Amino acid sequence: MGEILDGKALANVLSEEIKEKVKVMTASGIKPHFCVINIGDDPASKVYVRAKKRRAEKLGIDQEIFQLPAETTEEEALTLIQKLNKDPQINGVMVQLPVPSQINSDHLIEAINPEKDVDALTATNVGRLWQGTHFVKPATACGIIDLLDHYKISIDGKKAVIIGRSNIVGKPLAALLLERNATVTLAHSHTKNLVELTKQADILVAAVGKAKLVTEDMVKEGAVVIDVGINRIDGHLVGDVDFENVKKKASYITPVPGGVGPLTVESLMQQVVALTRRQNGKS
Ligand code: NDP
Repeated sequence: MGEILDGKALANVLSEEIKEKVKVMTASGIKPHFCVINIGDDPASKVYVRAKKRRAEKLGIDQEIFQLPAETTEEEALTLIQKLNKDPQINGVMVQLPVPSQINSDHLIEAINPEKDVDALTATNVGRLWQGTHFVKPATACGIIDLLDHYKISIDGKKAVIIGRSNIVGKPLAALLLERNATVTLAHSHTKNLVELTKQADILVAAVGKAKLVTEDMVKEGAVVIDVGINRIDGHLVGDVDFENVKKKASYITPVPGGVGPLTVESLMQQVVALTRRQNGKS
């Protein structure tokens, strides 16, 4: 029976560490300050944005939400990003995705100064991630590595299979696992014989957004299973993994909720702190 990887408990530990760091920084006159730009009325986005604000406030980080109307033009959003880029009081900027269809989200992301790119999504920071010269890391991927490390799960030499190749989760996680000497395979909707791949995985990550995509027969005995997926079924949150059945085969498994999710928010705050320190000449 797999041991539960308790993301919520680790998030609480990280939270205390971040709070302490922010306290010390604030005492020396440097208070981290970051901005989230949310465009339009997507209800899920509003929930996420508010959750980030609450978290930031608890940690002593200043956080501003720029809520823009659904009809905002790309030019207007770019003008705001440029203003925030230039403001020396602001250490981090992120755009909450998705954005309304008249706006190309890639254009907004690319306009963010890489030094303030909390989500680490600009081409500069993606390149740095793959080069191993990163100073900021995508939050979800970073949280997953922290979780594996916390439970002393070795990554070196392990075969990792990630289902999902998004810029936000799959690809950056591949880079971070590779950096830690895993042998990484990225699977996606065009992958043939997915089961053959997943059955070889020592570390199996599901980041798709399809409930119960990963079933018991897809998992090797003793594998570490990380479920990134968030799906709402009959008002309940579930992941991409058939948790109850896969748990019997896995050595470790993340629950949903309470696994990767809480770590993502905490990791995001770590990135804000890291960027603020860097902007103030601290490594
Ligand atoms: P995307 O929709 O951007 O990517 C989904 C990926 O899954 C794509 O690469 C897609 O392939 C692949 N895919 C779709 N269907 C299949 C299939 N049948 N077999 C194999 N691969 C498939 O999603 P995100 O990466 O943004 O998010 C993934 C999930 O993680 C969502 O549920 C999201 O809510 C959740 N999430 C959770 C976070 C957390 O903190 N816990 C943070 C971020 C996301 P292709 O590229 O070919 O289309």
